[in-house]
Amino acid sequence: MSEKIIPVEDIHAFFDDGMTEDIRKMLIRKDKRMTPSGLYCPCCGGVQAYVDRNDVNQPCDCREQASRLAHYAYANIGELYMRLSIEDLRDTTAKDTVISYIDSIDDRIDRGQGLLLYSQGYGTGKTLAASLILRKALRRQHTGYFITFSNLMQMAKDGWKSDESAKKYREIVSTVDLLVMDDIGKEQLAVGGFSNDYAKMMFESILRDRVQRLKTTIYTSNLTAFQIQQTYSHAVGSLLAESTQQVDFPGGDYRQTETRTVGKFGKIY
Ligand SMILES: [Zn+2]
Repeated sequence: MSEKIIPVEDIHAFFDDGMTEDIRKMLIRKDKRMTPSGLYCPCCGGVQAYVDRNDVNQPCDCREQASRLAHYAYANIGELYMRLSIEDLRDTTAKDTVISYIDSIDDRIDRGQGLLLYSQGYGTGKTLAASLILRKALRRQHTGYFITFSNLMQMAKDGWKSDESAKKYREIVSTVDLLVMDDIGKEQLAVGGFSNDYAKMMFESILRDRVQRLKTTIYTSNLTAFQIQQTYSHAVGSLLAESTQQVDFPGGDYRQTETRTVGKFGKIY
């Protein structure tokens, strides 16, 4: 089975909730970046050709680029992380593990096998790695979502007042095949006015729910699995051990090199 992206014309029918309008606006911008067919192209800006990273002119598949933008935006992937590729990850054993995970993505998702992408410092490429995995899952027609742990807690809180937020929260936590939960750690606990104990209880409940439903989760953290167990609970530790493999990213402050390679236009990978 090859990778398949849904044609952009069908996206509005495919996604039938509140996110659709935002994506529609992104795709049909009233500016000069339109292709002759009236479609916004996030890669070439409408000229139907672009210069690749090796300074070679390439024809642009504007429809696919627009379709990718829509799918990735719907899954809440930031534009920077749409425009970086596997080449932007440093060559480490962590990268090899990520590549082999991506190569067997269908099987991993079927089995609910996730990853804990760990590094001591920031800017090591673990968020990029998580985005690469999620993008591949989306291209293989799995459902997925990217969110920081603190934003997920905020969404849970908004759900007390808004049915729409409550619905979105439940969909993200219980339904999506692959969830990226970015930046879990002790400093994220007391967000949105929650007590630490409440946030810990929420995290344990999300984890248990996803493990029991055989849903796959990719975590990024500055804590090891052992430190997470110490911070949260033994139950969290054993659920994590059951459902994830820890991948260690060495070094730090790599983000500046990452961002230097991308701009407003260029290929959406
Ligand atoms: Zn184009």
